[in-house]
Amino acid sequence: MSETNKIYTLPKLEYDYKDLAPYMSEEQLQIHHGKHHQAYVDGANGILQKLDKARKENADLDLKSTLKELSFNIGGHLMHSLFWGNLAPEGKGGGAKPGGRLAEVLTKEFGSVERFTKEFTQAAVSTEGSGWAALTYCKLTARPIIMQVEKHNANVYPMFTILMVVDVFEHAYYIDYKNDRAKFVDAFFHIANWNAVNIRLERLLDACS
Ligand code: MN
Repeated sequence: MSETNKIYTLPKLEYDYKDLAPYMSEEQLQIHHGKHHQAYVDGANGILQKLDKARKENADLDLKSTLKELSFNIGGHLMHSLFWGNLAPEGKGGGAKPGGRLAEVLTKEFGSVERFTKEFTQAAVSTEGSGWAALTYCKLTARPIIMQVEKHNANVYPMFTILMVVDVFEHAYYIDYKNDRAKFVDAFFHIANWNAVNIRLERLLDACS
């Protein structure tokens, strides 16, 4: 993800809108990426502009609400950018089982990949309101930890790295699954790009060693 000109930009997907069907339909993905994610990008850039302007004019701003909105929009942009990167069309990177060091780390922590999948599913399905389930890695304890994220407020503790996320805002699945979030989370595993998650983990472990 590279940001230029001191603004945020919508990342291009590495697959076409239609490629994640039937697990994520073309319409669902197009609206999610092209409308919702774009709105976070535009929102963040708009607030940064507003801050620049106020500073230039030495004007007062309601910083509490402005920074809350800034954080929400930047969080939305970064979380969605991660999300698109850990998806791939089924059979073309999506849906296989975790391998490599990811499989080792998950098996050591959870007992088995199946047990991890079960816990991650439960975390995603039970996230309150709008949010995310995230597989993170804590560098202090050298353990993978599943976290629930409210709205886009990822727990950005300095020693935590996010390896994989699934968006459980209703806007992520409503067109395809109506209010059946559990069905969407099941579908997610058909298009989860474990290789990308494994690469992220390996980079992190190599940097730590
Ligand atoms: Mn979303």
